[in-house]
Amino acid sequence: MTEEPSQAPIAVSRVMVGEQEEKLVLEVLRSGQIAQGRMVEALEAQFAEAVGVGHAVAVSNGTAALFLALESLSLEPGDEVITSPFTFMATLNAILATGATARFADIGDDFNVDPDSVAALVNSRTRAIMPVHLYGCGADMPAISHIAAANELVLVEDAAQAIGASVADRPCGSWGIGCFSLYATKNVTTGEGGVVTTNDATVADRVRISRNQGMKARYEYVMAGFNMRMTDLQAAIGIPQMERLADITAARRANASALGEHLAGLRGARLPVEPDGRHHVFHQYTIQLDESRAPRRDEIVAAMVERGVRPGIYYPKLVTDYDYLSGHPQIGFDDVPRARRAAQSVISLPVHPGLDETSIARVASVAREVIDG
Ligand SMILES: *Cc1c(COP(=O)(O)O)cnc(C)c1O
Repeated sequence: MTEEPSQAPIAVSRVMVGEQEEKLVLEVLRSGQIAQGRMVEALEAQFAEAVGVGHAVAVSNGTAALFLALESLSLEPGDEVITSPFTFMATLNAILATGATARFADIGDDFNVDPDSVAALVNSRTRAIMPVHLYGCGADMPAISHIAAANELVLVEDAAQAIGASVADRPCGSWGIGCFSLYATKNVTTGEGGVVTTNDATVADRVRISRNQGMKARYEYVMAGFNMRMTDLQAAIGIPQMERLADITAARRANASALGEHLAGLRGARLPVEPDGRHHVFHQYTIQLDESRAPRRDEIVAAMVERGVRPGIYYPKLVTDYDYLSGHPQIGFDDVPRARRAAQSVISLPVHPGLDETSIARVASVAREVIDG
């Protein structure tokens, strides 16, 4: 009796770097210049072009991008930044590191901050709005930037998951100060890395100076700074991927669209939405279990894993739901029922570009069997 060949489990992400990356990294290694240099400049130029902005500043990681963007605003204790509670902890960590207070808007069907909820939090202490373009879907930027303009607030976008995404034909990261991550599992990666994008030359200068010890020209220090530079070795990994950005995004969108077809009519969960005018880059393909199934999420995920499909849960709790933050003076514990429900009921299915049609069909059939079966 022959056994079925066992199939490798399908993971929620895969790091994909090719020959171009190897070649360029080797070139850097042999050049003798491996810290910040020409490769970083080339990657910055690609980002400025892709995001459609005047300036892109590469930094050591996405958290540094968020922190330096906020730091450029010279926030003071008591100043408030409105953001999403349903995000990666880096969003909150960056705000807390500036000394400002984080306030939390509730989310909509797109899993992003709801403009009405943002507007309701604006007060005399508010300085900035920081939407997160979660899973690669841009937030409702026309409405949010309207609120920002009407109240003279700065827009800082956590676009860590959204390189290549746009809203109303305008790239994410160009509506305000854009903050990208190039972490290993992001749509474009340098292992660790980040980029700040802006049309404001003053902000770009300030971030360049802050990332480099507060130094404006050689040994001319003008402010307290940090070492948050990217290296040429990292940039060399990112450059070929930025050249392939359109293909990377198209592959993710094609996989998402195939999942949508295979999962049509799914009863136990809601499929991701792509609201009108939003170009979703599907960093994640996230479904939301209905209220009767959500309490069984752990079992549902375990059953999928048993069948060879490994989903992710982004994120199992709100960023404010950790014991060490309880009563934190820089956190507004705002009421966010929809975000709370999402944290209890989302599941992200594998959608990365390394999956072929057969794998995508398998992801969908396993999800359907486990959720509806
Ligand atoms: C990845 C990520 C970050 C942080 O980026 P790092 O490069 O890991 O520091 C911030 N916000 C969101 C939403 C992210 O997904």
